[in-house]
Amino acid sequence: MNHAWERLADGVSRCRLPFLDVTVGLVWSRTGAVLIDTGTTLTEARAIRADVEALAGREVSHIVLTHSHFDHVLGSSQFDGAAVYCAPAAAATMIDEPSLLRADAVRHGADPDDVDEAIAALRPPQHRVLSAVIELGDREVVVSHPGRGHTDHDLIATVTGADRTVVFCGDLVEESGHPCIGADSDPAAWPATMDRLLEVGGDDAVYVPGHGALVDARFVRRQRRWLADQL
Ligand SMILES: [Zn+2]
Repeated sequence: MNHAWERLADGVSRCRLPFLDVTVGLVWSRTGAVLIDTGTTLTEARAIRADVEALAGREVSHIVLTHSHFDHVLGSSQFDGAAVYCAPAAAATMIDEPSLLRADAVRHGADPDDVDEAIAALRPPQHRVLSAVIELGDREVVVSHPGRGHTDHDLIATVTGADRTVVFCGDLVEESGHPCIGADSDPAAWPATMDRLLEVGGDDAVYVPGHGALVDARFVRRQRRWLADQL
C-alpha cells in the first residue's frame, strides 16, 4: 500500500494524503468502487489507484468531488474509466477556470509542473448534480448538497447499507484546524448547513472531515457553534 487506509465500516475506508492532509474516501462492493475526492497531483492519484485495486480488487468506477478546490479535484484526471459526479459549479471551475485552480494550488505549495500535468489531463465531469444515488449492490452512496458553507456548492457523500453510516463531509467539516472560511465561503449560511448535515448522519454516524481525524456528531455540533460565533 502506498497510503495508510483507515477502515470506517465494512467496505468503507479513507486515507489522508501527506500533502495538506486531504481525505480521500473509498466505498466498494462486488459491483463497483466509489472514490470521494482525489488529491492534487497525478502522482498522488496513481498511488491511490494502485491502492484501490489492491484493497477493493477493482478499478474505481465512480468519483464524487465534494467541491471545486484543487486539492479535491485535480487528481480526478488519473481515473479515465470512472464516472465523475460533482456540483455544476465545480464542473464549471474545472472546465472554464483551470487558471484559478492552478494559482490556488501553487499558492498552497504544490509543484507547478505537477499541477500543469493534472490540469492538462482534466476531463469534463459527466454528472453535474446536487443530488444523486450511486448504487453499489448491497450499499449506496447518497450524494447531497446540504446547503452553502465552505463554498456555494459543497456536496456530502453518505454511505448507507454498511454496518455503520459514514458521512464524507468534504470541507464543511475540518478537524486539523478551524473550518476554512475563504472568499468563496458563505459563513452566514454555514451553521444551518451543518444542521442539515447532522440530520443526514444522525447521532451515531462517523463523520469524515475533508482534512483531519474522524469526528462524531458532538464534534460537528461544536464546530457549528464555532461557525455561528464568527458571525
Ligand atoms: Zn476546500
